[in-house]
Amino acid sequence: MSDAREIKTPAIVIKRARLKEADRVITLFTRQSGKVSALARGVRKSGSKLAGHLELLNYTDITLTRGKGFPTIIGSQTLNPHLCLRSSLERTAYALYYAELVNHFVEEEQPSTLVFDLLVETLDNACTAENMELLSRFFELNLLSALGFQPQLRLCLDCGAALKAEVNYFSNSLGGLLCPNCAAKSSVLPVSVNGQKVLRFLVDHGLAQSVRLKLDSVLNRELKQLLHNYLRYLLERDIKSSAWLHQLEVMLPPLEPASDTRLGQSAGTGDAERLVDLQGGA
Ligand SMILES: [Zn+2]
Repeated sequence: MSDAREIKTPAIVIKRARLKEADRVITLFTRQSGKVSALARGVRKSGSKLAGHLELLNYTDITLTRGKGFPTIIGSQTLNPHLCLRSSLERTAYALYYAELVNHFVEEEQPSTLVFDLLVETLDNACTAENMELLSRFFELNLLSALGFQPQLRLCLDCGAALKAEVNYFSNSLGGLLCPNCAAKSSVLPVSVNGQKVLRFLVDHGLAQSVRLKLDSVLNRELKQLLHNYLRYLLERDIKSSAWLHQLEVMLPPLEPASDTRLGQSAGTGDAERLVDLQGGA
């Protein structure tokens, strides 16, 4: 008798890789079991019923069998294909970046409903958010918090004093802010008063309130630099999609405050699909 067991769980497709013949390895972030890499047989053959339900960024109800060997996907029913992302190269790039962050930060079989719900909510909002940078900072900060890396933003990590409304300094190695007196001792990045306010707001409030903040391009850039430096430090490696986003920014017009920002207007569906293919190793 086989010792394989069947699991059905909501999941997001966060990575795809080709395997020999017509198969793929699909990396899923599942609500029940966390990150799972699973075999999808025959999905590169034309006419495969599973293929359309295993596109990158799909939110799907997945059925897996698990035994001694590699988990195998035996069923998938799309709950939300996030089609709106596929019509915008820029929004797709951001969404792939969120998927890649989860893939890099979460170990296999480390379930987290906090991370799962955050990813689902962020992908849903990636279709409509006016300020994708702000949505990205919300995602990064709350992902870090869910994984136990929430930066200290209220007390100096060295002397313990409550931080004043002045420029304070972020230390990657300590994981948060230092007061000006303590900052000289280590390698740090200055953070403006408004920058600190926004960081605290994003940690303390939900997504719906957070994405309504209005940030100018200087503040957007400051927070992006700060969080990307911290994420790189934690990962000890470059984030592939982050580099890709940077390339994209060079090509696209500069990011302006939310009301002036019409994202995703400059790229056609074809470009977005090519990007999905590029990231999925198709
Ligand atoms: Zn201090």
